[in-house]
Amino acid sequence: MSSLSAIKIPSRLPLLLTHEEVLLPGSTVRFNVDSPRNMHLIKHRLLKGTSLKSTIIGVIPNTRDPQKEAEDLPPLHKIGTAGIAVQVVGSNWPKPHYTLLITGLCRFSVSSLLTERPFVLAEVEQLDKLEHYTTLAGTVISEDGELQELSQKFYQAALQLLGMLDVSVPVVAKFRRLLDSLPKETLPDVVASMIRSSNKEKLQVLDAISLEERFKKTLPMLTRQIEGLKLLQKTRKMMPNQEKKVLTVRKGGPFSGRQFKLNEEDEDEDGDDTASLERKVLGANMPEAALRVCLKELKRLVKMPQSMPEYAVARNYLDLMVELPWSKSTKDCLDIRAARTLLDNDHYAMDKLKRRVLEYLAVRQLKASLKGPILCFVGPPGVGKTSVGRSIARTLGREFHRIALGGVCDQSDIRGHRRTYVGSMPGRIINGLKTAGVNNPVFLLDEVDKLGKSLQGDPAAALLEVLDPEQNHSFTDHYLNVAFDLSQVLFIATANTTASIPPALLDRMEVLQVPGYTQEEKVEIAHRHLIPNQLEQHGLTAEQLHLPADTTKEIISRYTREAGVRSLERKIGAICRAVAVKIAEGQRDSKGEELSPESQTQQADQAAPPEMPIVIDHVALKDILGAPIFDMEVSERLTLPGVAVGLAWTPLGGEIMFVEASRTEGEGQLTLTGQLGDVMKESAHLSISWLRANAKTYQLTNMVGGTDPLEGTDIHLHFPAGAVTKDGPSAGVTIVTCLASLFCGRLVRSDVAMTGEITLRGLVLPVGGIKDKVLAAHRAGVKRVILPKRNEKDLDELPANVRADLDFVTAANLDQVLNAAFDGGFPGVTSPHTLTQLSSKL
Ligand code: ADP
Repeated sequence: MSSLSAIKIPSRLPLLLTHEEVLLPGSTVRFNVDSPRNMHLIKHRLLKGTSLKSTIIGVIPNTRDPQKEAEDLPPLHKIGTAGIAVQVVGSNWPKPHYTLLITGLCRFSVSSLLTERPFVLAEVEQLDKLEHYTTLAGTVISEDGELQELSQKFYQAALQLLGMLDVSVPVVAKFRRLLDSLPKETLPDVVASMIRSSNKEKLQVLDAISLEERFKKTLPMLTRQIEGLKLLQKTRKMMPNQEKKVLTVRKGGPFSGRQFKLNEEDEDEDGDDTASLERKVLGANMPEAALRVCLKELKRLVKMPQSMPEYAVARNYLDLMVELPWSKSTKDCLDIRAARTLLDNDHYAMDKLKRRVLEYLAVRQLKASLKGPILCFVGPPGVGKTSVGRSIARTLGREFHRIALGGVCDQSDIRGHRRTYVGSMPGRIINGLKTAGVNNPVFLLDEVDKLGKSLQGDPAAALLEVLDPEQNHSFTDHYLNVAFDLSQVLFIATANTTASIPPALLDRMEVLQVPGYTQEEKVEIAHRHLIPNQLEQHGLTAEQLHLPADTTKEIISRYTREAGVRSLERKIGAICRAVAVKIAEGQRDSKGEELSPESQTQQADQAAPPEMPIVIDHVALKDILGAPIFDMEVSERLTLPGVAVGLAWTPLGGEIMFVEASRTEGEGQLTLTGQLGDVMKESAHLSISWLRANAKTYQLTNMVGGTDPLEGTDIHLHFPAGAVTKDGPSAGVTIVTCLASLFCGRLVRSDVAMTGEITLRGLVLPVGGIKDKVLAAHRAGVKRVILPKRNEKDLDELPANVRADLDFVTAANLDQVLNAAFDGGFPGVTSPHTLTQLSSKL
C-alpha cells in the first residue's frame, strides 16, 4: 500500500457505472463490463493511457449504465470509490465485453458532471485521505475517545472472527496479515468487503462518510458473522464427520447439506460464486469425461486468487461448459403432410427441391438416426436456400442456427482455439450449440464454397469431421477439449457453386441445384411472399399500398437483374419505406401535403391524407426508385459488325455477355481484354485458327480484301461487362460468330444469344448451366438461343413459358451456328445446303 502514498486522486475522474457489486476502499472487485459508456471508458482511458494516473477511475455503485448509448444517464449515486484498474481482460465471447479488476483506493463525491459521452467524466471531491493508509495504526483517531473505543472493539471482534476461521485458506491468511498491518480506520471497509454482507449493506458502509458512522454500521455485521459461525461450529460438533472447513470439490453427488455450503461462503469471498458454479456443473447433465474435467477445473479455480489472469480463463471455460446443451434436446414433431403444406406455403416454385427435402424428411421419420449424406443447396444468391433451411427446422420443430462460413480460412474458427492462447474461444459449432441451447438444432452451414485456406490449417478438414456421421458423435473442440456429441444435429449446407467446394467435403453431400427464377415465377413470389412480408415489416397493410403486377414486372426487368429475388425484395422494401413516410406525414398533418404528385391521378394533388390504397404505377415507381437501371435493349449494342452476344454462367446465376472485336493494321497479333480466365484465351485462339482455316469457304477477308483474315491485321477481342472473371470454354461459339461478323462485315442478328464449346475441327460441344443461361437470355429479351446439339435434353428443365417465348437452335457444328446467327444464313461456298437443314430445327 505504501506505493500509493504519493497518489492523490485526480480532480477529474472518468466514472464506471455499476449496479451489481459495491467496491469499497481497500478491496478488489471484478466487474463485468459490457455497456457502451463503460466499454468506451476502458477502450479510451484504460487501454490507451500510459501513466499510472490514467488507470485511476471512479466506480459509481447502484447506477445502471444504459444499454444504449443514446439513452440518457440515470441519476448517479452520490458517493463512489476511486479505484485503480489492476487488470483488464477483453473477450468477444459471447459478446464483446471486458472483465475489469479494480482495487478501491478511497471515497469521493461527485461535484459536477463534465461529459456524458463517450464515457462519463466528472469533477470529483476526494473524501478519504489516502495518506491515512500509510500512517501507523491508531495515530489518526487517537484524539477522539469514543471513536478509539469503537475501533478497539471492532479490532477485537475482527480478531475473534479470525480465530474461528481456518488459516490455511488464502483469504483468511490475507485477512490476518492485513488486520495487523493496516491502520484501524481502514478496517470497516476491508472487513465489510471480506465478510458475508449484502450489496445494500456494503452501500451503507460506502455512504458512511464519517468514520464513526462507518464503524457503527460495520460492527453489527461483524458480530452477526461471528454469531453465525458459532452456531455452525455447534452443529458441527454434533455431526463430527463434517470436519472439513476448506471447500473441497467432491467427486460426484450433490452437496450433502446447506450447512456445509454456508461454511464455504463464510471462508471464501468467492465462495458463493464457486458453490453455485459447482451446483450448475453437477446439474448440467454432462457426460462423465466432461464432468471430470469440469470438477478438476473447479478445484483449480477455488485455489486461484481472482486477480490471476487464469481465473477469468477458467471461469469463462466453466461458464461455457455448464451452458452447453449436453443433454437438452427438442422433440421432433414431424408430420410429412404438414411439412409439405408448410414448405408449399413458405415457398413458391422450386418443386424439385421441395420434393427431395420431403423425401429426406420422410426417411428421417422412418429411421430415427439418419447417417445419410448432408443436403447441400447449390444456387445463385437470393433463390431461397437459407429460407428453405429455416422451413425445414420449423417443420421438424427444431431450433435453427446459421453458421456463415464465407471467408473462414482458419480451422480454429470451426474447432476453436486451445485454451493456452490468449483470448481463446470455442469454434463456431460449439458456439452455435450454445446459442441454440439444444443439442439437436438444424445447422445451416452457409456458403461452404467460400471456405478459404491459410497457414492456420484447412477449415474444410475440420468441417469434414463435423459432418462425418462416423466421427461426429465425439467432436472435440480445441477450446472445450472434451468430446461433444454432434450426431443429433441436422446439418444443411448451401453454396453458390460446387466448383469451389473442397472435393472431400462435396463427397459427403448430396447436391440439390436451386436454379434462378423466371420472370413469371418472380412475379408470383413477389405477390405471394415478398410484398406481404415487406408490408408487415414496414407496418403497412394491403389496404394502404397496392403494387399491381405490371409494376412488379417492371421492377423485375428494369430495376433488377439477378437470378434470385433478393434485390427485388430490397426494391419492394424501398417502395414500402417511401409509402410509409407518405402515410405517416398524412397522419400527422391532416391537412396534408400532396401525395406523390406524379403518382397516378390528379386527385392525388388534393388528397390529404393520401387516399388508400396508394397504388404504385409506372410514374410513382420512377419517382421512388429513380430511373431504370437496366436497359434491356440488346439490339442497341449490335449495330456494328464484330459484336455478338454470348451466355455465361456465374455463381450468381446466368448472364448475357457481349463479345466485341475490332481490327487494325498490324502484324497479325491478337489482344484480349476484359477479366479473362485461361480457358477463355484458349477459346479465342481456337476460334481464330478455325476461321483462318475456313476463310475461303466463308469468304472471310482481311482489311484489304486478302484471303487470310489475319494478314497485316491486329485483332482486339474484348469481353465487356463487369469485373467478373469470365472463365469457361462456353464462349467458343460466340467468339467465332463475333470474329466471323468482323471478317465478313455483316451484322449478327440482334436478338440472338449463344453458348457452346468448340473444337479445332469446328464441332460444337455441350456445356453446363443451360437452364441459368437460357433464363438470363429470356430476362434480357433475347428471342433466339443457339445451343450445342447435345444440350437439347436440358431444355426439358425449362419452364414452359420460357420455352414458348424462345426459339432454340441446336447446333452440332460451327457452320450451323453461323447460319443461325446471321440474318439470311451464312452460306459457305461448299455447303449451300445447311440452311434448309437447319430451318427444320428452329
Ligand atoms: P439464399 O439463401 O439462396 O441466398 P434466401 O433464403 O436468403 O436466399 O432468400 C432471400 C429472400 O427471398 C428470402 O426473404 C426468401 O424468403 C425469399 N425467397 C426466395 N425464394 C423464394 C420462394 N421460392 N418463395 C418465397 N420466397 C422466396
